Amino acid sequence: MKIAVYPGSFDPVTKGHLDIIQRASALADELVVGVLNNNAKTPLFSAEERVDMIKSVTEDLRNVRVEAFSGLSVDFVRKCNAGFIVRGLRAVTDFEYELQMAQTNRSIDRGVDTIFFTTELNYAYISSTIVKEVAWYGGDISGFVPYEVAERVYRKIRDKKDRTENY
Ligand code: ADP
Repeated sequence: MKIAVYPGSFDPVTKGHLDIIQRASALADELVVGVLNNNAKTPLFSAEERVDMIKSVTEDLRNVRVEAFSGLSVDFVRKCNAGFIVRGLRAVTDFEYELQMAQTNRSIDRGVDTIFFTTELNYAYISSTIVKEVAWYGGDISGFVPYEVAERVYRKIRDKKDRTENY
């Protein structure tokens, strides 16, 4: 059984992430999407909300599981009994960091290999950060994220703006 883990922040999940999930799930027997609950970053969505959104946009993919985790990716990979980490490469700017991460993870656990997917050209410029930035200023994000994710991003940002206005 080939189990792979696709770790990331997914704050929120984009069409670029979804493309990687679809392609990786065709390759692995089981794909676990690991949503990183990282104390150092302040995400827009809680880990539970991010898990929930990914679950709902991947419900047609039978061999995809979504879980939140904290700590090291390799520890989560071991916990899942997985042998592979999946990551996406958008541009050369991703390369240096991703190479370093892959080598670090392999030096921690030689049983773990990283597989890189080159991203679909039409999604290559999309990042969760850009999605939030565009939505914050009222721009159209429907090309970047699935419809229901877009709705949730707008709603979340509206709530956040209301809360700051009321201070
Ligand atoms: P992280 O904070 O770990 O970088 P992200 O959620 O930003 O988490 O990204 C998770 C993974 O998905 C990374 O490997 C990243 O390169 C990849 N990724 C991010 N955006 C895209 C995209 N538009 N297309 C394909 N892969 C992407």
